[in-house]
Amino acid sequence: MSEDNQPKIEPIEGHCLCGAVKVRATPLRRHVDACHCTMCRRWNGIAFVGVMCGEIAFEGEEHVTSYRSSDWAERGFCNICGSSLFYHYLPFDHYGFVAGIFPDDALLPIAEEIFIEDKPAYYAFAGDAPKLTGAEVQAKYGIGDGG
Ligand SMILES: [Zn+2]
Ligand SMILES: [Zn+2]
Repeated sequence: MSEDNQPKIEPIEGHCLCGAVKVRATPLRRHVDACHCTMCRRWNGIAFVGVMCGEIAFEGEEHVTSYRSSDWAERGFCNICGSSLFYHYLPFDHYGFVAGIFPDDALLPIAEEIFIEDKPAYYAFAGDAPKLTGAEVQAKYGIGDGG
């Protein structure tokens, strides 16, 4: 199917563990991406599996706290239950939302795994998505470490 014939992507709705924060957002693509960098793993407990979204609307936005994790990124979480919500890449104003806050059937499998050299041995994802090192990510997207 060519790009032109792709069905329009509908907004999806998700929420944090306690439900105080609800998100309605339109995925830019229906697949997810995984980041194994040490910062994402510290933040999530395991790789950050996220979906890039636009047209974002929050309910309960007063319960969203952002942590400025680097000069170029902030990470949002629910200030009641602590659920991770999004990675906000400031130079492009891109939001990557934690896939787990959305219904399981809303998204397709992993399209790309990044910072693969940081992945510990105790887990691995299914499928054969391309696996990029941090250096390869930088070369492809011009983005430095996960931040
Ligand atoms: Zn919550
Ligand atoms: Zn990362």
